[in-house]
Amino acid sequence: MRLTRYFLPVLKETPSEAQIASHRLMLRAGLIKQASAGIYSWLPLGYKVLKRIEQIVHEEQIRAGHIPMLMPTLQSADLWRESGRYDDYGQEMLRITDRHGRDMLYGPTNEELITDIFRSHVNSYKDLPLTLYHIQWKFRDEVRPRFGVMRGREFYMKDGYNFDLTKEDALHAYNRHLVSYLRSYERMGLQAIPMRADGGPIGGDYTHEFLVLAETGESEVFYDSEITDMKFGDRAVDYDSVDQCQAVLEEFTSRYARTDETHEEALFNDQVPEARRRSARGIEVGQIFYFGTKYSEAMGATVVTPDGGRVPVHMGSHGIGVSRLLGAIIEASHDEKGIIWPEGVTPFHCGIVNLKQGDAAADAACESLYAALTAKGLEPLYDDRAERAGAKFATMDLIGLPWRITVGPRGLEKGVVELTSRRTGESEEMSPEAAVDRIA
Ligand code: ATP
Ligand code: MG
Ligand code: MG
Ligand code: MG
Repeated sequence: MRLTRYFLPVLKETPSEAQIASHRLMLRAGLIKQASAGIYSWLPLGYKVLKRIEQIVHEEQIRAGHIPMLMPTLQSADLWRESGRYDDYGQEMLRITDRHGRDMLYGPTNEELITDIFRSHVNSYKDLPLTLYHIQWKFRDEVRPRFGVMRGREFYMKDGYNFDLTKEDALHAYNRHLVSYLRSYERMGLQAIPMRADGGPIGGDYTHEFLVLAETGESEVFYDSEITDMKFGDRAVDYDSVDQCQAVLEEFTSRYARTDETHEEALFNDQVPEARRRSARGIEVGQIFYFGTKYSEAMGATVVTPDGGRVPVHMGSHGIGVSRLLGAIIEASHDEKGIIWPEGVTPFHCGIVNLKQGDAAADAACESLYAALTAKGLEPLYDDRAERAGAKFATMDLIGLPWRITVGPRGLEKGVVELTSRRTGESEEMSPEAAVDRIA
């Protein structure tokens, strides 16, 4: 992409309404624009990152054996009356009446809709296990939308639902989600720690929230510092293996890590040596949940068993805050100059800065770098504006691409360009070919 043909409305001023770095940077770097309270337009650069995050989530869910689909944003109130949640959900639910007077709602989540699909089409234990998911816009009329996309009213969420014959099978699905979530967050360059959370009215131990540690996080968390050394890495896990998935769960929940809702001071002090006790703030970027037969019983989602009986299926739901993740990634990865995108989610792989637009040699070198990077399957962003070098550098630093190649007539006389890492700030001179080779 050439910057002169792109739409990148960066702001010079720091927007006064933004209280935290990620919100400020998303506005300044032209990623989003507020449409109304808690509702945002995704401008081209923000949209690109959103899609890259979504793509990672899809790939990891499909790898885990989960099946993608798409349900609508608008739902009929009748299903929610069946589960009893139409009245229970309260003011976070946006209720809508259509022209015929029918009660509708903008889905805050999809347990009812998916359970209805399941009961309409699945009748036998032979069709289990089954995990369906989608990535779709949600609406929750949050009392206090804030921090940009971090707590929006309209937000993009991956939600998956497992249907299993037994509790053991459903817990295997729970573990598969835990593994796939660990992989997903790491691919986004994030450390998200599974923490024991509150099962709410349903209770039970089977829910974990994934938290990214950040001072601006809205959750209070308590953990053993050893947990921050744990990495999933590129180990191979067979998602069909109950034991392998269980082993990952045990490993990643072997250290104390809880949100304030489940925190027990005495247990914390007992289990964790004082030097390793930490209390901090965290951003919830996902949650997994086993809730048994709560919806299947209420809504009659049953299957025939091998011995001819009929039982309600065991279910769980598993969410990732796709749009919130942009904020969380930026909170975890920025400096005073701007965003520092992890390679896994960066909107463009590399920036090309032409120090002297209109200089025949510099222009030609930029064009050939552009072609070479593109031929490698990478997406460069070429700043071909007739601007001062300082302004071009400031834009590149703000939008946070991992690499910048700087091209100028003086370097070209020596046959070199400059390759700069956004993360370390280090620059190195090398031939244009060597620079292209270095960019992954
Ligand atoms: P929170 O505690 O932040 O209100 P939640 O527990 O209500 O979140 P879930 O129902 O667990 O949210 O939804 C799954 C994921 O969707 C959350 O882990 C979070 O990442 C994301 N999410 C929830 N509410 C919002 C929101 N208002 N804006 C953006 N993302 C959200
Ligand atoms: Mg909430
Ligand atoms: Mg929560
Ligand atoms: Mg939650």
